[in-house]
Amino acid sequence: MKALAVSCACLFLAASEPSPLTVPERTAHQRTSTTTEVRAFMAELAQRYSALKPYAPPGAPKEAEGGAPLMAWRLPATGPDPLRVYLNGNIHAGEVEGKEVIQMLTRELLEGRHPELRRHLELVVVPAYNADGTDALDPAIRPWQPNPESGVGRRENARGLDLNRDLMKAAAASTRLFLAIARDFDPHFLMDLHTTNGSYHGFRLTYTPSGALGGDAALSAFNRRMAAEVRERLKTEGLPTYDYGDFMPDEPGRRGGTPERWGEAHPLPRYLVGYQSLRHRVGMLSECYVYQGFPQRIDTTRRFVLACLSWAAGHRAEIKAQIQQAEQRWLKERATLPLNFEPKAQESFDFEVITPIRNAQRQIIGEKARQTLRLPAFTAWKELDQVPLPDGYLIDPIYAEPVRANLEAHGLRVLPGTARPKGRPVLHFTETAREFTAEGYQGVFPLALKGQWKPEPQPKALRLPWKEKDLDRALWVPLDQPLGRLAFYLLDPRSPDGLVYWGFFHSALVRSSQMWGEPPRFPILAVGEAEGAPSPGSGRAPGSKQE
Ligand SMILES: [Zn+2]
Repeated sequence: MKALAVSCACLFLAASEPSPLTVPERTAHQRTSTTTEVRAFMAELAQRYSALKPYAPPGAPKEAEGGAPLMAWRLPATGPDPLRVYLNGNIHAGEVEGKEVIQMLTRELLEGRHPELRRHLELVVVPAYNADGTDALDPAIRPWQPNPESGVGRRENARGLDLNRDLMKAAAASTRLFLAIARDFDPHFLMDLHTTNGSYHGFRLTYTPSGALGGDAALSAFNRRMAAEVRERLKTEGLPTYDYGDFMPDEPGRRGGTPERWGEAHPLPRYLVGYQSLRHRVGMLSECYVYQGFPQRIDTTRRFVLACLSWAAGHRAEIKAQIQQAEQRWLKERATLPLNFEPKAQESFDFEVITPIRNAQRQIIGEKARQTLRLPAFTAWKELDQVPLPDGYLIDPIYAEPVRANLEAHGLRVLPGTARPKGRPVLHFTETAREFTAEGYQGVFPLALKGQWKPEPQPKALRLPWKEKDLDRALWVPLDQPLGRLAFYLLDPRSPDGLVYWGFFHSALVRSSQMWGEPPRFPILAVGEAEGAPSPGSGRAPGSKQE
């Protein structure tokens, strides 16, 4: 009895005063945490609860470019056969509430506050993904959002890269940390926690389920169902949420504009949550409403993450089954993939639109008016330009080093060119159009190509020829592998998010009058059936647009 009384007293203490306290909790929300403080908090938790361990997957960098530590922790489930979940905070380090929520939730799980989640979910967490940005706190950053007095961190990494555009090119150390986690821990479900940048809408938080151009349609629909069910549950709890978006083409009242739609979808794998879709996994982007106070943003994000985790734990068997079916469909049924998309309306919805009163810092200090506008929500997209899939791609051995490093970081199987299927046609890319962006983006001048795979190389005087020994020395990346869908979007030269787009081959593909040497060869080949010939029975070219 005495022992029971003691343990009850401990439980009571734990419920009334959580410990350790996060930086906002112990500073009355005057400060947000640095990487040193995140490490100290998690180390104290790990000291009290041996289940929590620092986690360094093989091949993960230990530091960001500016020297701040890249840190992850792993918390195994208490029950058998758990769902693997990854929580990501501070990818944009001015959007700090996710970083604090991840620390709080780790503590709550260890304190026994969510026994169902603890039993069924195995967690890997990275509270401060943009580590250098996390430590560069400055009160002048994002002045329009109610901030702690410490200020918040910087959006981009120290090299000026937006980490939430970096998943395909993987130029940043933080991205290589995530890819190492994906290879080793392989989360079924991922959440990436942000703050919105500006729309005056009536939602406390907006979200986007995983979904990328060319992702498995049934798995995307399942992920969308998860989002809708979480939204309904939170509505009954007085927390209005909706699909992430902005009023387009303009905010109501701003520069006299009138919104015509809510949207729009950007289903590209350069985003962490979109990327998850090309791996046949599920995920959720969380975008807390920027104009709530700092403590409210923490509370809202915490409630949303808990609602998603609770759904995931309750549907863990179904999530795993859906993932497995998507993987099977890829290996058995793949035929075509789209190269392009167009945002489309998912539904019409009654949006609450706020006309704000702002102070000199552009912070909202009141509402002039609120109106309801029925607008189409462009939260879905139509897939365009379906192309048939080759057996795989051959990468010029001249580029082997940077390309192999990228592909293997993504977890792709890269074989020698001698392993290509013999007797199958080797195809050459015929370029029909290009768009070369004069405006730099993420450290690159992106190159968008259009064209088709043909049996013969495009004629060009003195172009370096491909010889049999070059084919044998090339990298062979077959599409009949579990991550083949991702391989297509990395390697097809027409991909809107591939290595050609991101400048991996610019010395061969972007030539000017100052470069008067004999032209290099096109650095990627395909193996499979040529495009542009009428497909048997259909009477339609397989490379033509599908509606
Ligand atoms: Zn963000």
